[in-house]
Amino acid sequence: MANKAQTHYEAIVIGAGVGGIYQIKRLADLGVDATVLDAAPDLGGTWYWNRYPGARFDSESYTYGYSFSKELLEEWHWKERFSGQPENLRYLNYVADKFGLRRYMQFDCRVEAAHFDEARNLWQLRVSDGRTLTCRFVMMALGLLSTPTYPRLSGMEKFKGPSFHTFHWPHEPVDLTGKRVAVIGTGATAIQVIAEIADKVGSLTVFQRRPNWSVPLNNGPISKEEMADIRSRYDEIFAACARTPGGFEHEPDRRGFYEVSREEREALWNRLYKEPGFGIWLANFREIFMDEAANAEFSAWVADRIRERVKDPKVAEKLIPRDHGFGVQRVPLESGYFEAYNRDNVELVDISETPLREVTETGLRTSDREFAFDIIVYATGFDAITGAFDHIDIRGTGGQSLREKWADGPSTFLGLMIHGFPNLLMAGGPQSGSASTNYPRGIETAVDWCTGLFQYMRARGYVRADATAEAEHRWTEHVKRMYQMVLMRKAKSWFTGYNSNVPGHEEGSIRYFVYNGGAPKYVTRINEVAAMDYAGIAFTPEAPPSSQAAE
Ligand SMILES: Cc1cc2nc3c(=O)[nH]c(=O)nc-3n(C[C@H](O)[C@H](O)[C@H](O)COP(=O)(O)OP(=O)(O)OC[C@H]3O[C@@H](n4cnc5c(N)ncnc54)[C@H](O)[C@@H]3O)c2cc1C
Repeated sequence: MANKAQTHYEAIVIGAGVGGIYQIKRLADLGVDATVLDAAPDLGGTWYWNRYPGARFDSESYTYGYSFSKELLEEWHWKERFSGQPENLRYLNYVADKFGLRRYMQFDCRVEAAHFDEARNLWQLRVSDGRTLTCRFVMMALGLLSTPTYPRLSGMEKFKGPSFHTFHWPHEPVDLTGKRVAVIGTGATAIQVIAEIADKVGSLTVFQRRPNWSVPLNNGPISKEEMADIRSRYDEIFAACARTPGGFEHEPDRRGFYEVSREEREALWNRLYKEPGFGIWLANFREIFMDEAANAEFSAWVADRIRERVKDPKVAEKLIPRDHGFGVQRVPLESGYFEAYNRDNVELVDISETPLREVTETGLRTSDREFAFDIIVYATGFDAITGAFDHIDIRGTGGQSLREKWADGPSTFLGLMIHGFPNLLMAGGPQSGSASTNYPRGIETAVDWCTGLFQYMRARGYVRADATAEAEHRWTEHVKRMYQMVLMRKAKSWFTGYNSNVPGHEEGSIRYFVYNGGAPKYVTRINEVAAMDYAGIAFTPEAPPSSQAAE
């Protein structure tokens, strides 16, 4: 158990998800006096919070697990190719218990403010339980999808029945039998939950504003024999992930889109559509991401698959996105999503035609109809990437506020540091390599980098590290330039900081949230910086005792 009377630490990690767990492991191994604070009642982050039916990986489970311990890899048996939330949470608990990490963690501790004390080179954190803690280093492992957003709808408090965001799906079982259920949203989460509950509810009404491209997950169990095979190939698997832009096993097809015939392209697509996971997105032709015509051709092919699967042609057309091409937003993977709309108890309401007006005591009202429901589910996503930062009053040198600095979008050095916010490290921050890739693959690299910087400073007696304004500017411009090469720049998605439910994040103000250069380039770059004595970071040595006395 962490000692709640202790008020100073060398390092404080905020967040006990996949990132925070690995960060505290590295710090604990070095004997650093560190603790982890999380607003949640227990560890797990994403996999603690999101308990809605159907919540699961779209990363192959065995590529999502940590790679740092051979023993752990030997011990853990992933039972499904794309494992579900309960198992994922069990896994993270197993890791924390195996390595004795729970004793460093403090729960129900929301960090409300973090102010840098320039005279002492310390961060001062104000915690929701009333304490003020200080530390030299603050490691932000706040999560990229950890701040849920609700629609801007009046009357939400009026509804008499249960209503919840998928992020806050109750811990106790929710009896859906015979219930009239509304799901608002058709993003990645909605696509999982709709497919899972369609045959369990009385009726399901889906309120869709913009459809998303979605393709089959093709999940399946992993037998003992298959797991033994995976274990014997872990080195190979992680090496493949390290080679690919997305940090997955799926490698892009190196043939040129236009070098092969339409028949050959379709042969690839037909094969990938039946294969598990992101292959159809990431093992496709690279032109899909950059060339409008190639993207349009493939999008039309996927649209035909939707038409084949949805019986009512009018519904099928509504489920086909028109405002963006396939793969320019993170592609949700589905298990029977489109078939759910073939059921008599499932209705799709297009709220781009008949907008939602308000929540009533008994349900929802659109511009042309009144609906009665027993349960309302808000599957309306997250204030992604910077949301959790914006919810903390973070102040750096000169009292500058991070919220204000990032008001029009983030600027960072390598996605790991922020000029003017010394000793604040963020392994999975905006513009880092983790946000757009198979997350744990990126986060292990980034946590190692942060830990390396920490060790470097310790060895030299440095007490402050601040990315220079110039280094930050260069990285941020580099990230922006990368967007110009990919069709993703045009998408209304969290990759571009779009969220109509977050003030200032509406259409038209693109935010450069992710690094699009791919994992290998990112890792090379951050390791080069480390090898060049952390070029781009200004270090301050500890003041000699005499000058301290004079202060
Ligand atoms: C439903 C869902 C499915 C996903 N599937 C995949 C997948 O298949 N593959 C993939 O790569 N990624 C996936 N992701 C992304 C996922 O978020 C990451 O894989 C990973 O879990 C993030 O880990 P993290 O530790 O950075 O953040 P999180 O797991 O989000 O943990 C952050 C923690 O910080 C805490 N926190 C935030 N602010 C504060 C504060 N102010 N004070 C105290 N505590 C705070 C939160 O309570 C939370 O527990 C998925 C995300 C969701 C929502």
